[in-house]
Amino acid sequence: MSTTERRVAVVTGAARGIGAATALRLARDGYAVAVLDLDEAACAGTVEAITAAGGTALAVGCDVSDADRVAAAVARVADGLGAPAVLVNNAGVLRDNLLFKMSDGDWDTVMNVHLRGAFLMARACQKHMVDAGWGRIVNLSSSSALGNRGQANYSAAKAGLQGFTKTLAKELGKFGVTVNAVAPGFIATDMTASTAARIGVGFEDLQAAAAAEIPVGRVGRPEDVANAIAFFAGENAGFVSGQVLYVAGGPLD
Ligand code: NAP
Repeated sequence: MSTTERRVAVVTGAARGIGAATALRLARDGYAVAVLDLDEAACAGTVEAITAAGGTALAVGCDVSDADRVAAAVARVADGLGAPAVLVNNAGVLRDNLLFKMSDGDWDTVMNVHLRGAFLMARACQKHMVDAGWGRIVNLSSSSALGNRGQANYSAAKAGLQGFTKTLAKELGKFGVTVNAVAPGFIATDMTASTAARIGVGFEDLQAAAAAEIPVGRVGRPEDVANAIAFFAGENAGFVSGQVLYVAGGPLD
């Protein structure tokens, strides 16, 4: 794609799962991709897959909830690849528990990674986007934003990201920056595999039970989410901003 050839995309939590699929997809669409995750070494697989396919990628280790590390990571991306034009706030963790058993740490960890992390990354990247007069921010929300038993922390964070998305869309629109959210339903990744392990159900059984409730009759794949993110990240989505797209195989209650 000629319009995106020189542009740089940053994908957080891109060592695996939805983030890795998104990094690969954006590289295929012509972006140079910063593959950012907690552990730089863990990014190697995604970087190798991108470069093997002829793309450009840089592994960056960074805890998105740490302001100094975020500032350093974004500076490193700007030096190593170029100014970030696309940011996908995908890094995420679960600390599920019913409210009466949820610890302060469970609450704070989830808020820090999802909400503080998205805030810090967006604040650091927007400077480059505003300077360029063009940018795309895509935040990962979740169907859990609508409420999900055992996820008071996660659902609050994912609903919070929807408000964050709409506010940034209003603030940054006049600088050519659009901001949208993708809210996946059940996607088969290590995250949902860890949920199966936590509740003592086989992952295949959990997927089958989830698929039975999903109108298209299957659970999602990371690529299903990457496709939606790629739309929001693209040149052609310039008049779409402040939206939340549920990628869940059907409508949600
Ligand atoms: P995943 O497989 O667990 O991958 C998440 C990635 O984020 C991991 O590589 C993880 O690194 C990284 N990460 C965690 N904390 C971080 C931090 N502080 N700084 C930088 N990176 C960090 O998850 P996924 O299923 O692909 O989910 C990706 C996003 O989609 C998340 O925001 C999730 O909430 C959202 N989502 C997922 C589903 C689903 O069904 N899977 C549904 C709705 C929304 P480590 O491996 O080192 O922890």
